[in-house]
Amino acid sequence: MLVLKNLEEIELMRESALIVSKTLGMLAGEIKPGVTTLKLDKLAEDFIRDHGAEPGFLGLYDFPNTLCISPNEQVVHGIPNNDLLQEGDILSVDCGALKNEFYGDHAYTFQVGEVSEETKNLLEVTKASLYKGIAAFTINNRVGDLGFAIQSYAEANGYGVVRELVGHGLGKEMHESPEIPNYGKRGRGKKFQNGMVIAIEPMINQGTKNIKHFDDGWTIKTADGKPSAHFEHNVALIDGKPNLLSTFKYVNEALGIETEEEKPFQSNSISVS
Ligand code: MG
Ligand code: MG
Repeated sequence: MLVLKNLEEIELMRESALIVSKTLGMLAGEIKPGVTTLKLDKLAEDFIRDHGAEPGFLGLYDFPNTLCISPNEQVVHGIPNNDLLQEGDILSVDCGALKNEFYGDHAYTFQVGEVSEETKNLLEVTKASLYKGIAAFTINNRVGDLGFAIQSYAEANGYGVVRELVGHGLGKEMHESPEIPNYGKRGRGKKFQNGMVIAIEPMINQGTKNIKHFDDGWTIKTADGKPSAHFEHNVALIDGKPNLLSTFKYVNEALGIETEEEKPFQSNSISVS
């Protein structure tokens, strides 16, 4: 169901989103070789509860943990375990929080120690494709325009765009209408409207776009075993323009990254603290 949000509801959603943003920032300082993903999961659960929210994924569709945590060739929906992270791994961390009845839901793919130049490029292109998608979330565009923006950028860089998994509307349900594919044709699909809140989340593969389902019933992997990256933001359409509810500011602070990439999409009236 498509549920438009008023400004008051959007501010509540910003609160939920910021808890996830801060959780990812906390995790950024903990992700290193020798750490288990189960430890990261526990840290995230405690952090979310300490901030007055509930983990958004835990128990949702019977998912067993707080984080979907997907190293290397895992695309999404990986389950935390006791394996040790290795130097050169990449780790997609997808996190949800529920506060005031609204969900926040976003993701960042981290480097574990030093990664290869090839892998670094995959991360950079995937993150940049997310911002291409956000820029296309405007009142004059449609779902297909947003997908086209992501797909054309990722494919121009030689990467595969996962088809089976998509972004989504976000609100009191984790997954609301419309679906937001990371591929599409310009001018096609549902028209964007003020009050829409969506999760935009490109999943970009170094090799083939094809995926396979792992036999734990959750984990999705690339069909060719090459790495996959995943970045996600929560965005509201206000006055015809995209307004970021989530932020990678806390991750960037933890990792010493300086960037202006979020600036065009931040609201001037509300400061991110
Ligand atoms: Mg997510
Ligand atoms: Mg999502």
